[in-house]
Amino acid sequence: MSYKDLWLSIITDLSDEIGRANVITWYKDTAILNIDESGVMTVGLPLVFFLDWHKKHYQQTTLQIAQKHMARITALEYQIEGKLSQKDERVMDLLKHFPEKTGRKLPNQPLVKLKNGLKSQLLNARYSLDNFIVSPETRLVHAACMAVAQRPGETHCNPLFIYGGVGLGKTHLAQATAREVLRNDPTKVILVANMEMFANEMIEAIQSKTMKTFRDKYRKVDVFIIDDVQFVVNKGKTEEEFFHTFNYLYESGKQIIITSDRSPQELSLVSDRLVSRFQSGMTAQIRMPNAETRLAILQSKCREAQVFIQDQVLELVATHMEQSVRSMLGVLNQLIAKYEFEHEAATLKSAAALIELNQKGAKPTPFLSPQNRESSVTIQELLDSVSRYYTISQEEITGTSRHREVMLPRQVIMFLAKTKLNLSLNHIGRTMGNRNHTTVMNAVDRIKKSLNSIVSSFVISMQLQRKLEWLNGQRLQ
Ligand code: ADP
Ligand code: MG
Repeated sequence: MSYKDLWLSIITDLSDEIGRANVITWYKDTAILNIDESGVMTVGLPLVFFLDWHKKHYQQTTLQIAQKHMARITALEYQIEGKLSQKDERVMDLLKHFPEKTGRKLPNQPLVKLKNGLKSQLLNARYSLDNFIVSPETRLVHAACMAVAQRPGETHCNPLFIYGGVGLGKTHLAQATAREVLRNDPTKVILVANMEMFANEMIEAIQSKTMKTFRDKYRKVDVFIIDDVQFVVNKGKTEEEFFHTFNYLYESGKQIIITSDRSPQELSLVSDRLVSRFQSGMTAQIRMPNAETRLAILQSKCREAQVFIQDQVLELVATHMEQSVRSMLGVLNQLIAKYEFEHEAATLKSAAALIELNQKGAKPTPFLSPQNRESSVTIQELLDSVSRYYTISQEEITGTSRHREVMLPRQVIMFLAKTKLNLSLNHIGRTMGNRNHTTVMNAVDRIKKSLNSIVSSFVISMQLQRKLEWLNGQRLQ
């Protein structure tokens, strides 16, 4: 078996454990470089910052799977090999092997037992209707989801058919809606399924003559989510059975949510009656949000992850990753990983490199021209970032309030401006709402003290630490 074939088998098994998105993010442009006589397998990684991540999250699992495929492997080592790219013969095209549209396997998620013996794919806790950033392109579908969540089965949005390209938030919205239904009424029974699951269970039921149990199971639910309905397998029979399930639920006033990468008319279904059923409620298309919203999505993810990345870096990512939200977030996650594990601040340059890496066949990007490179951090940028970090408006920070929630960010900015940007106390005072230099000096002292006092200011110092590291990163440019 060639190294490439072996690596593909390993990654394929791994994708069941960690999911396709992680595989694409962390295994793209990697390769087995060598397996020596003592069984040490050396895997090449394209970038330094992959190293910690692999070691921490994937080394053990990868080794175990490798040993399943080749018993003589004894250990797994990594080597950074900058040359690894799609052009390198040792590297395979992961996107070809794990295409987005076909054969996507759901990551192995634990199953939850539901009330009357039903099992469902665990709803992903990260998805909520609140953390979905709404834009003109998604307003309608978001509103429909909100309506469904309030009154499942009772609105004109039944079925709710959400369609659009990959990575635009369909699964997010469908799951978030179900979660919201559950939050409003924990006794509701939710079933998240895909067509593959439905078809397999049906075939099994036919063979073991347990069709009644199968039907009962699917007919007991209050909210039925079929994610990625385009993967209809064994069309005729599955469709027929699905049609009856659909009708039953629909007529009993149960909510049905369907997601698909294409519209009902474009689904190549055998029967037209299912297509017209799909269209009988609300059909909402989801499109890629505009650049401004993409930036807002990135900012909100940074807040969630409590990381601090300069706006101009996020803007670069938002403007250049315009195909799918998922791949845009992939770039952000890699930036965050770099920051968390290598303490290397996200810069325009590192973001540009990642964007290139993530855009298939991308040409060298023009945005690395010298005038676009970072200039040093200004106090205004500090103000922007710190205010966003603490979610307090700039006006409040520079204003007169002496409330603790406002004082802290104000002092933090003054401290950073003095100790990291070396600005004069007078200048800082003027910019921060015309304060005099002693106020600034006191603020700097206060933060310095809190930084030193482990007991009183652990949290502050943790937060500050991140900012200091980030600023250090900027200065080392
Ligand atoms: P799809 O099912 O359409 O392929 P997903 O629902 O899996 O896409 O979304 C991909 C990723 O993008 C998820 O992590 C999701 O949370 C995120 N996402 C997409 N749109 C938004 C949005 N408007 N606001 C916040 N996160 C979003
Ligand atoms: Mg999906």
